[in-house]
Amino acid sequence: KEKGVSEGSTLLHGKYELGRVLGHGTFAKVYHARNLKTGQHVAMKVVGKEKVIKVGMMEQVKREISVMKMVKHSNIVELHEVMASKSKIYIAMELVRGGELFNKVSKGRLKEDVARLYFQQLISAVDFCHSRGVYHRDLKPENLLLDEHGKLKVSDFGLTAFADHLKEDGLLHTTCGTPAYVSPEVIAKKGYDGAKADIWSCGVILYVLLAGFLPFQDDNLVAMYKKIYRGDFKCPPWFSVEARRLVTRLLDPNPNTRISISKVVESSWFKKPVPRKVEDV
Ligand code: ADP
Ligand code: MG
Repeated sequence: KEKGVSEGSTLLHGKYELGRVLGHGTFAKVYHARNLKTGQHVAMKVVGKEKVIKVGMMEQVKREISVMKMVKHSNIVELHEVMASKSKIYIAMELVRGGELFNKVSKGRLKEDVARLYFQQLISAVDFCHSRGVYHRDLKPENLLLDEHGKLKVSDFGLTAFADHLKEDGLLHTTCGTPAYVSPEVIAKKGYDGAKADIWSCGVILYVLLAGFLPFQDDNLVAMYKKIYRGDFKCPPWFSVEARRLVTRLLDPNPNTRISISKVVESSWFKKPVPRKVEDV
């Protein structure tokens, strides 16, 4: 069964056998796939070319993807290769089997030691990319995957610009994700520092891990934006003093005074020694 293609399945470039759908994104479908030569299982993201061409972004997309191939880090979903047919772009990635981190949080908030383990991995990935001039710009729960050992893997790093451009044609606007993770300066659309914007999103993510709910929430979108602009949130009573301090420095609405990654790493909450594996907590 390992060799050859199963009956009725799709063969891609004579190399990958496409299997079941793993997930739907805003502009892509992700399939389970198997490399027929090596037997390796991968996640195959399939994007319609028409949309990319329509917004004149094909060259940019290719450049982005070639950058991504160089960004290798143990906490970032690895990009293996990119192929294209007449109508589609196929992005073969590392297959991550443990689902999204936020499936865990939806069952309830995490202990601080557990949250710290995930947050350290997130910061490690983000710091690595920033040092290479790559910004995520859309860090949010659905992009934080866990492997079978509970290790965090950031997905879509550097591919976000790609997603943004596709959204610009208006067609995909309604399927844009929640703005709850977006920094005030990004909402303001006045040009922003990609690093600072990512740090803000990390702050929202840390808050959610520790609280079990979002820091800025309102049924009315305008009211939610106002809260984000003002940095208007409260830490629940169970946050430790150190956690409270760090979250407040991350969710500083002024990008110029917001904490930098190097200071995050030095903070007492971040540095506190923890057991190596989540299971040990
Ligand atoms: P989009 O960028 O269009 O939003 P995503 O990359 O978020 O698409 O993929 C959509 C879904 O597919 C994800 O929420 C996740 O459930 C699944 N998925 C994406 N990448 C992988 C991967 N490398 N391994 C396993 N599942 C994945
Ligand atoms: Mg995504």
